[in-house]
Amino acid sequence: MRAALGVASECAPLVKTGGLADVVGALPAAMRPHGWHLRTLLPGYPGVLGADSTARVVAREDDLFGGPAQVLAAEANGLDLLVLDAPHLYARTGSPYLDADGRDWPDNDLRFAALGWMAARIAAGALPDWQPDVVHLHDWQAGFAAVYCREMGARAGTLMTIHNIAFHGLTSARQRAALRLPAAGFSPEGFEFYGQISALKAGLIWSDRISTVSPTYAYELTTPEFGMGLDGVIRARADALSGILNGADLDVWNPATDPAIRNFTTPRGKATNRAQLAAEFGITPGEGPLCAVISRLSEQKGLDLLLDALPRLLDRGGSLVLLGSGDRALEEAWRRAADGSDRVGARIGYDEALSHRMYAGADAVLVPSRFEPCGLTQLYAQRYGAIPLVALTGGLADTVIPANEAALRAGAATGVQFHPVTAQGLGFALDRLCDLYAERKTWGRMQRNAMHAEVGWDASARQYATLYDALAAQG
Ligand code: ADP
Repeated sequence: MRAALGVASECAPLVKTGGLADVVGALPAAMRPHGWHLRTLLPGYPGVLGADSTARVVAREDDLFGGPAQVLAAEANGLDLLVLDAPHLYARTGSPYLDADGRDWPDNDLRFAALGWMAARIAAGALPDWQPDVVHLHDWQAGFAAVYCREMGARAGTLMTIHNIAFHGLTSARQRAALRLPAAGFSPEGFEFYGQISALKAGLIWSDRISTVSPTYAYELTTPEFGMGLDGVIRARADALSGILNGADLDVWNPATDPAIRNFTTPRGKATNRAQLAAEFGITPGEGPLCAVISRLSEQKGLDLLLDALPRLLDRGGSLVLLGSGDRALEEAWRRAADGSDRVGARIGYDEALSHRMYAGADAVLVPSRFEPCGLTQLYAQRYGAIPLVALTGGLADTVIPANEAALRAGAATGVQFHPVTAQGLGFALDRLCDLYAERKTWGRMQRNAMHAEVGWDASARQYATLYDALAAQG
């Protein structure tokens, strides 16, 4: 077994705000059959520290960005964890990133620099009996680790994975010394970004290889439309860039064994879950499809477009249930849309078990994102026989076979795709969805295709292993 260190701010099921956590939580088991043993370094948030009472100290640091810290070796949910116990940085309740008022913690730069620093120390040999060949950095929270690894002369190869380029981890240039970053690095060729410091840019420039979570998003990142100001950096490193799709954890997302639902193995088995879902939201579905949205409520996810297109769905006898949280104005707008309606239901909040019940009960899952690096909800939807209706962008383009005439004739379709990503485009797609739903045979075929689609980690883990192998060989 070769050894790799994953570095991330989230890891399901211990701490999750989005798809990043699912990926970080699933990758270790996925990589094992390919000869890679992955340990995961996580911040010691209260929920993570409490996960294993038998954890033991394997490294100490007297001054980790303002206080003492230790690394604990722990096991939880089959994951081999290294937990960075640094109370001055992580002993806070609630979201990993936000205070009770929904604002970023003012010291997020230091909190995640510390994570990166410890990752580099481990890569440089801080643990007596374990040394990774590869360090796998996830998103901006791990970005500075690439710089520190270089500065400390760590021999491990570094891979920076972009899960979402919208988040840069920006901080003031005045923080450079406090962040223990080299002065020479503060330049347009380094981690400087329009006068500030960008943790993500640091990761993109200092890491040996870069990956992102779908082939289409990899291409999109090289364009100004999607690169969020970093497209030039990505283009300059195009030779080091790969796009590897995320997978679904098939043990967690399995309708035949999922403890949160009435289990089923064929689309017909969804009927009870559908009825329960409608009852849970207090709605009465019409003759059209019962659609679900499970999502962060942010500009990215296009749920404002769905508010505009909603009448199209309702006119066709469709209904909708939404579970989400985030942007306050969107939360309010969705509450209003559901208020007094017997065919629209909304739950504002985060509820893992309810999300499972929604995939199981819905006829379709809607993902009208303006951009979507990979997207996991459309994978889970397929597994649970819910037809994904998705925007033609990023990983949504790579994971759904759209029900165009050719795909229908080939009997291969698994979903509906639309472009351009506008309310009008979405309205047209909702019409199309309702047409397909009315053709029971076609719909059943699509459901079966979806349930059998390969949405697991197998193929992608193999691609990561090839990448890890190359990185280890150069180290
Ligand atoms: P992103 O990472 O951009 O949020 P993904 O589609 O990659 O989007 O992953 C979203 C993950 O978070 C999925 O597992 C989805 O089921 C889950 N999720 C999103 N919002 C909620 C919510 N309000 N309650 C429960 N699960 C949610």
